[in-house]
Amino acid sequence: MSDPKFIIVTGGVVSGLGKGIAAASIGHLLSSCMKVVPMKLDGYLNVDPGTMNPIEHGEVFVLDDGGEVDMDFGHYERFLGVTCKSLSNLTMGKVFDCVRKKERRGDYLGKTVQYIPHVTDTIKEKILNVAKEEHADIMLIEVGGTVGDIENELYVEAVRQLKKDVGEHNIIYVHLTYVPVLANVKEQKSKPTQQSVNLLREKGIQPDIIIGRCSQVLSEDIKEKISSLCNIEKGAVITGLDVKNVYNIPLIFYHEGILDIINKKFDTHITPDFDKWGKYIQHMENPSQHATVAICGKYTKLEDSYASVIEALRQSAAYNGGGVSITWVETTDIEDGILDVSKALEGVQGVIVPGGFGGRGAEGKVAVIKYAREKGIPFLGLCYGMQLAVIEFARNVCDLHDANSSEINPNTRYPVIDLLPGQKDIMDKGGTLRLGGQDIVIKPDTKAYSLFGGKARLRFRHRYEVNPEYIQKMEERGIIFSGKAPDKDIMQIMELKHHPFFMATQAHPELTSGLDNPNPLFRGFVKAAMGV
Ligand code: GLN
Repeated sequence: MSDPKFIIVTGGVVSGLGKGIAAASIGHLLSSCMKVVPMKLDGYLNVDPGTMNPIEHGEVFVLDDGGEVDMDFGHYERFLGVTCKSLSNLTMGKVFDCVRKKERRGDYLGKTVQYIPHVTDTIKEKILNVAKEEHADIMLIEVGGTVGDIENELYVEAVRQLKKDVGEHNIIYVHLTYVPVLANVKEQKSKPTQQSVNLLREKGIQPDIIIGRCSQVLSEDIKEKISSLCNIEKGAVITGLDVKNVYNIPLIFYHEGILDIINKKFDTHITPDFDKWGKYIQHMENPSQHATVAICGKYTKLEDSYASVIEALRQSAAYNGGGVSITWVETTDIEDGILDVSKALEGVQGVIVPGGFGGRGAEGKVAVIKYAREKGIPFLGLCYGMQLAVIEFARNVCDLHDANSSEINPNTRYPVIDLLPGQKDIMDKGGTLRLGGQDIVIKPDTKAYSLFGGKARLRFRHRYEVNPEYIQKMEERGIIFSGKAPDKDIMQIMELKHHPFFMATQAHPELTSGLDNPNPLFRGFVKAAMGV
């Protein structure tokens, strides 16, 4: 296809309706025949979410090219099977940075620099640039926030203008709203949708498709009402049904007829391919095996902090023919003596210690790891989880009693985890960790080898590493560093013998895991937890 098409997804009424999943589900339907390139426009002034606390913003997703991006990129990559680029996550931080540089360079010489047209032009330039660089057939653009938010106004204006620039047959506006079912009258209500669409229209955008998020399938009556009051055809009112399993949403949208509307407007003949997914969705719905896994971290108050870990577990369970339940263990409670480790891990068949930063909760995690190692409970450590597994091993197996990471205790006698050499002189915090996809060489005759073969590529986000000075001593005591960087002494995967499954990685394997190809580390871990 020569000219790219554009699908713009906006949200209304309230946040938290699942705009990212809705966009990813639309993308899934289109991606069997088209090159769909997702893009997210975020209103905040940070350059990227890398400097934000996950409790505030959800998990920071890391791309292969090293970009730290919004967690919605996890949905996009999982649902579309694509590898996204950092250019695809625009933030107001990046936009203003660019406008300011242009102004200093003299690009606007003699002019007053204004939100419209200079900022909106920059936004459009960036969108069109991604479309061109990625040779997109379809650009799937999610506007962050809810229509009416001040910080997203300039994006809404830019995507409004886009219609004129790319031609009206090349753009579809999808608006996600909320259809409540009031308990007292037990009736689906259209008013919030009407008001939200009115607000969008005030800004010059008439939606082509409305997705009404609802606890029930939208009735013919309400579809009729929304159709006539919001000025769209009835077939373009799509149910966004509340579901337990988000992987079902593309199928729901398909059965609601969303592709007919898209094909008609774009004059295309796109048909979806559900072959690969169907089987795993079946397993999710009718699990024959089951495992309970504890995720032991300090951001457990917000599940979104560990969104990709949860998904990788669910995918791996489905792959192994079963389901998984998650128990949340707040490691600050263990550290504070409020929670006992054996109590916290009662009835648990697998333990995950995920990524993290700083000392708070770390001793609780070390206690959990010790318990899993000694009791033979399958364990998977992710990034910080691997560093803490090394600390636990150094303290309790190698007799290096106050071994620690210099991130936690800069004065430790045994800094078994220390800053990467390249990190020593870095002062800035944003975008300066060791980031992105890195190759891993895997040692033969190890568990890692049986899972990955001789090499792997995983994504990283860390400043600290296993201190090379202690490697030999720890290897003598039985730790196996089964995955290393090809050209440096960076330990990237570790495992223990004589344990049902004790593996950890300096990487984030949860970021490269799909429903039809779960990451081998998660697959192996869940298999061990299920005891199959
Ligand atoms: N805080 C650790 C480091 O910087 C681990 C980071 C992480 O878990 N992503 O190396």
